[in-house]
Amino acid sequence: MRASPISPTVDFEADGEQHGFLKLPYSRNDSAWGAVMIPVTVIKRGDGPTVLLTGGNHGDEYEGPIALSKLASTLKAGDINGRVIVVPFMNYPAFRAGTRTSPIDAGNLNRSFPGHPDGTVTQKIADYFQRHLLPLADYVLDIHAGGRTLDFLPFAATHVLADARQQARCEAAMRAFGAPYSMRMLELDSVGLYDSAAEEAGKVFVSTELGGGGSSTAASVAIAERGVYGFLAHAGIIDKESVIGEARTTTLLDMPDDACYTTSEHAGLLEMCRDLGDMVAEGDVLARVYDITRSGATPVEYRAKRAGLLAARHFPGLVQTGDTVAVVADIIERNIPVTI
Ligand code: ZN
Repeated sequence: MRASPISPTVDFEADGEQHGFLKLPYSRNDSAWGAVMIPVTVIKRGDGPTVLLTGGNHGDEYEGPIALSKLASTLKAGDINGRVIVVPFMNYPAFRAGTRTSPIDAGNLNRSFPGHPDGTVTQKIADYFQRHLLPLADYVLDIHAGGRTLDFLPFAATHVLADARQQARCEAAMRAFGAPYSMRMLELDSVGLYDSAAEEAGKVFVSTELGGGGSSTAASVAIAERGVYGFLAHAGIIDKESVIGEARTTTLLDMPDDACYTTSEHAGLLEMCRDLGDMVAEGDVLARVYDITRSGATPVEYRAKRAGLLAARHFPGLVQTGDTVAVVADIIERNIPVTI
């Protein structure tokens, strides 16, 4: 396969703090010999493990970009053992546009792996992570949220993996992230995911969903920041003592089957009848959808197909046919201590 067209302006092998770019040539109307400049920070001291931290895989999710921007501007080489590679805005064109996918090629980066060096801009970014950044890393954390169209209870997540030992290592890192909720996911559609690329390369991989609606809150950013430091301490990059504050717990969730998901079969005005974090019983009305082409019509009711915790919901006030309206999760275990 051809070499990647992306060239880093940082030296991943050099000690110290470096702030530079992954430079991706992109010729266009407003810049004939232009490039997409994806910010990257590398902080390194000695020969310890490497942690790869990413936000902005989807461009309308903000906890990762904020927590990682803060980390990049404050973490010093003298604070760490090993190497931290920070890419706060992974799909940079999408992040700049404030959209889930890239405005250049409509590429959803998290469906573009393993990517291609001769492909679209999004495929080139995926290929660079696949062949150049993932191989450098031992631990990989990819911070997501719901974006403009979904809102989530804050959770870190790992997948059910074929290799039980790797799965256990991922779950230990998820608990060290220490979000209020932790999700063990059976991925039904893993093709093209960054998650799958990292897991298949044998890395300790954790992802998150920390909120949504196309913005962030003080609380959701605090969860991301604590999580990043917990993850770094778990990897041995920073001292465990430096991150142990008040005792915290996480509640383990699962989304085991199709009954967890409620999909809208109507377009219209959405009334959510339950809120995130509510316990629901099977048959409870989760939402109503009103016809917006006339008044006086009876709304359609969407009922829970199973009991559990309302863990995700559609965010905008209008809903389309095919949108995910609500996700009900199983509670596996409450109040597990967060351990680094
Ligand atoms: Zn996302």
